[in-house]
Amino acid sequence: MKIVLLGPPGSGKGTQAHIICEKYNLPHISTGDIFRANIANQTELGKKAKAYMDQGSLVPDELTISIVVDRLQQPDCEKGFVFDGFPRNLAQAKELDKMVTLDKAIMIHLDDEEIINRLSKRRMCRACGNPTHMDWLVDGKCEKCGGDVYQRDDDAPETIKARLVKQKLPQEVIDFYKDKGIYEQITSTNNKEDTFKLVDEILKKL
Ligand code: ADP
Ligand code: ZN
Repeated sequence: MKIVLLGPPGSGKGTQAHIICEKYNLPHISTGDIFRANIANQTELGKKAKAYMDQGSLVPDELTISIVVDRLQQPDCEKGFVFDGFPRNLAQAKELDKMVTLDKAIMIHLDDEEIINRLSKRRMCRACGNPTHMDWLVDGKCEKCGGDVYQRDDDAPETIKARLVKQKLPQEVIDFYKDKGIYEQITSTNNKEDTFKLVDEILKKL
């Protein structure tokens, strides 16, 4: 199962990627998570990426594609994978296409007002990486593992707006996957299990 999840920030694609990977035992490849891990470990890559991320901009393709090339070479990717947050433009989609044959590109759609509302309440678990939401926490802790949660730097209101403008997924990426006959779209619901049912209807047919 080789899948990419497309969708605006806050659409729930990270949450859905976690659920899919657990159910189907696949590696979850989130370029955003890889950048954040590099920032936390203060690597050269992390230092470079942070400057872009803090401004709500995309990290340059050269850096982003190189981490994807490395990641796909790891043996766990042989059985399949779920990409979350990659590709974000046509150049990235074309590079990925040179390396693998995807089964589906699934767009998780969400309206703009709802995106802002969700992102301002998003929290991340420090312990397990679960992307969560203020309303889902149990006693202020991760509902999955009890770990401490934090707000991402780029979920500050000003950066959210910048990301929505600067990072709108180009129509040409959608057209690229439509032309290949692998594009599907669902609309994100307010309940992650309900959204997963919609996603899983697509996956079950693979
Ligand atoms: P979200 O989808 O919620 O915006 P991500 O965790 O996917 O968050 O990405 C966080 C940040 O990392 C992005 O705002 C961007 O700066 C950078 N990033 C992640 N993936 C890519 C990518 N494929 N190309 C360029 N930049 C990326
Ligand atoms: Zn957790």
